[in-house]
Amino acid sequence: MPLIPKSHPRAESLLIRERLIDGFDNGLVAKEGLLAQGRGEAFDYLLGEKTGRAAKQAIKAAAAHLIQAQKPVISVNGNTAALCPKQIVRLADQTKAKLEVNLFYANESRKKAIVRTLKKNGAKEIFGTNPKYLAKLERIDSKRRIVDRDGIYAADVVVVPLEDGDRTMALRSARKIVIAFDLNPLSRTSQTADITIVDNVTRAVDLLIIECKRLAKANPDRLERIISSFNNKDNLSENVTQIKNNLTRRAGIA
Ligand code: ATP
Repeated sequence: MPLIPKSHPRAESLLIRERLIDGFDNGLVAKEGLLAQGRGEAFDYLLGEKTGRAAKQAIKAAAAHLIQAQKPVISVNGNTAALCPKQIVRLADQTKAKLEVNLFYANESRKKAIVRTLKKNGAKEIFGTNPKYLAKLERIDSKRRIVDRDGIYAADVVVVPLEDGDRTMALRSARKIVIAFDLNPLSRTSQTADITIVDNVTRAVDLLIIECKRLAKANPDRLERIISSFNNKDNLSENVTQIKNNLTRRAGIA
């Protein structure tokens, strides 16, 4: 990985890009994953490359859901495994969530590379790898309809960092609570999920872990209040406003 000086004004974003490229070189990330990253980068730039107020509210609501969940599952794809494997394993430990490898562009060697990476970062059990235990989600025709019958299929809350819209819709139809990380507040995933954290997954997962720790002992009424006071559509609008304000400021037309 080329050295990126910390003083570079966009050091964090360049580092994220390098992690993705390394992930591609190491067989974790699909070509399409690089393109998805490009779209994400553009939105991150427009959002000011920092976690905004709306994202913090979504993180709090997501934490409340995860603490209340009976069978939470975190779905891991190549981009997530390349960008923040350690944090994803920590989030699973903190919330007692299962980890499931689920790929849009299914490929056995990539799946193995993702499993290896997660294990290297402390994961003990990973779902979605045993063909004997697979089940099918309805209303979706890509290979991503295949899920682990003891993982996503049985889950009540599913965390989907960087998901595509069709699967988010299929998960919602299967009555799962869906928590997405997506930098694009306009994507179908963002619009369909119960909670969309509009932030870079590399920043937001750490904040979600902290929030889960903070709320771990909260009583169920408090968690319920946090959940019921959150409205995903309003939250997405606030993110769009944040983009508008940033654009206006940067273009010097405030
Ligand atoms: P949809 O089907 O939901 O409309 P899409 O087809 O626009 O999505 P995809 O290419 O399937 O997009 O998925 C990539 C999504 O992930 C994009 O919305 C992009 O903004 C987002 N994304 C990419 N990198 C990151 C990241 N590091 N953190 C958070 N979101 C990201």
